[in-house]
Amino acid sequence: MAGEAQDDCLFCKIVEGHIPATIVRETETTVAFRDINPQAPTHVLVIPKAHYRDAATLAAAAPELAADVLRETQAVADEDKLEAYRVVFNTGSGAGQTVWHAHAHVLGGRGLEWPPG
Ligand code: AMP
Ligand code: ZN
Repeated sequence: MAGEAQDDCLFCKIVEGHIPATIVRETETTVAFRDINPQAPTHVLVIPKAHYRDAATLAAAAPELAADVLRETQAVADEDKLEAYRVVFNTGSGAGQTVWHAHAHVLGGRGLEWPPG
């Protein structure tokens, strides 16, 4: 069910501390940790602690929590002193989503091209 921890979800396991991660920030409702396969000098994932399969589901079911995630992307950028950065929500496998627990990628620390490909 939306919001409840899923036994087979990698990011739920990180929230529960069952899988290690380099955590950079934590709030009551969110966790931010470094991506294991960074695509930029700063590549941090911000996730809600509660499980939602993607950003759209999160925004529809729990808009205040979605706002918490968005607020934390700014906090991560501030912490890494990024003047410019990109926030990405890959949504659907065709867009590159591989982990089915909503997450924002925060990318920065290098020039970022547009369109992103
Ligand atoms: P996405 O492809 O948008 O679903 O993003 C999933 C991201 O999770 C990828 O960038 C992976 O590199 C990252 N990832 C997968 N496993 C881990 C892990 N154990 N710790 C940190 N990041 C991970
Ligand atoms: Zn999950």
